[in-house]
Amino acid sequence: MNAEIIAVGTELLLGQILNTNAKFLSQKLAAIGVDVYYQTVVGDNAGRLREAIEIARKRADILIFTGGLGPTKDDLTKETIALSIGSELVYDEAALHSIAEYYKRTGRTFTENNKKQALVLEGAAVFPNDHGMAPGMGLHKEGNVYILLPGPPKEMNPMYVSYVESFLMKLASEEKLHSRVLRFFGIGESQLEDTIQDLIDAQTNPTIAPLASEGEVTLRLTAKHASEEQASSLLDETEQNILQRVGEFFYGYNNDSLHTKAIAALRKKGYTLSCAESLTGGLFGEKVTEIAGVSSLFKGGVICYSNEVKQNVLQVPPQVLASEGAVSEACAIHLAENVCTLMKTDVGISFTGVAGPDLQEGKQPGTVFIGISVAGTAFAVELKLGGSRLLVRERAVKYGFYHLYKKLEEL
Ligand code: AMP
Ligand code: MG
Repeated sequence: MNAEIIAVGTELLLGQILNTNAKFLSQKLAAIGVDVYYQTVVGDNAGRLREAIEIARKRADILIFTGGLGPTKDDLTKETIALSIGSELVYDEAALHSIAEYYKRTGRTFTENNKKQALVLEGAAVFPNDHGMAPGMGLHKEGNVYILLPGPPKEMNPMYVSYVESFLMKLASEEKLHSRVLRFFGIGESQLEDTIQDLIDAQTNPTIAPLASEGEVTLRLTAKHASEEQASSLLDETEQNILQRVGEFFYGYNNDSLHTKAIAALRKKGYTLSCAESLTGGLFGEKVTEIAGVSSLFKGGVICYSNEVKQNVLQVPPQVLASEGAVSEACAIHLAENVCTLMKTDVGISFTGVAGPDLQEGKQPGTVFIGISVAGTAFAVELKLGGSRLLVRERAVKYGFYHLYKKLEEL
């Protein structure tokens, strides 16, 4: 956490007194690990004080004010803060009581304007003033913490030591963990790690933790901050740095999955879908139909396991099957285009390949072609997958969703 100290008092600007409060607080804050990035001095002027608050709010987590809590007209720190953050001022019973006691003890007469010193920001923690009248206060508001302390060092210093330090330490221990998972596909864990190793090494907040699961890699970013908003901007910054390097493999966040992203992308475009599956034998269609409500865009599919079905139902030309084979780019494209025509859909996807364990058409197990036809143009992707027969088929389906999603995102 970082802080800005704002000393309020025209006498400081006139050089009549030295800003020893800033020196005292900076030393104390450094000792508990709070970084002070700015010290500001502003006169007893509501407009300029307000500007100082607005600037500090954007660049500091904690704003610590000293001065301007007294009873006189030029004391306007809490009134100005109240206006700036949209909070009410309310009387603090304990402070009213201790001010009255103070007057009794010192034999002075209690005047109405002295009551003003017992006004505090609604909802604030109130710090008693053991050496004077105006209490201090600490308030959490929209991602910032406002600490208001009296000007006289003989009041401010003991108040800080007795009450404020523990308040700040508690805040630090309340810092929460906020995390975000970035999901990648088509890149191995070690390649991903290599590409961003320097970012992983340099990061302390957020931290970056890679995790590999079946065919996918995720990065969990974890930021520590009391404020969710500030944590989220820390996460945004790290995410941008990562995506600059490996954005082409990124597909989603947290609980996103390839098939839900691909179907959501189709829905966004208003496209319908059909599939022609050879080696996957219906696995793709099965995954699509996991999603409730997908019937509005998924028309159906053909399991074109044999060459007869590829030729007779999906009109793959016999010369393509004879010369290039069923496991070929040309066949995958014909299948994708023709299933679109057959089922009258905007998008068609096809899977043809060698699931293994034996060679087929002289091609290695794991050789897969995925054909995708989108609104009249088609292409195919060739994959060399590893693993068992089951894994090859499952991985092929994931790649299908991935390429479909990436293609739709491009359009
Ligand atoms: P105030 O709370 O603004 O009425 O301040 C009362 C008195 O506290 C001033 O007249 C100064 O003597 C002292 N004081 C206020 N601000 C500071 C500061 N930043 N450093 C040292 N003394 C201060
Ligand atoms: Mg003053």
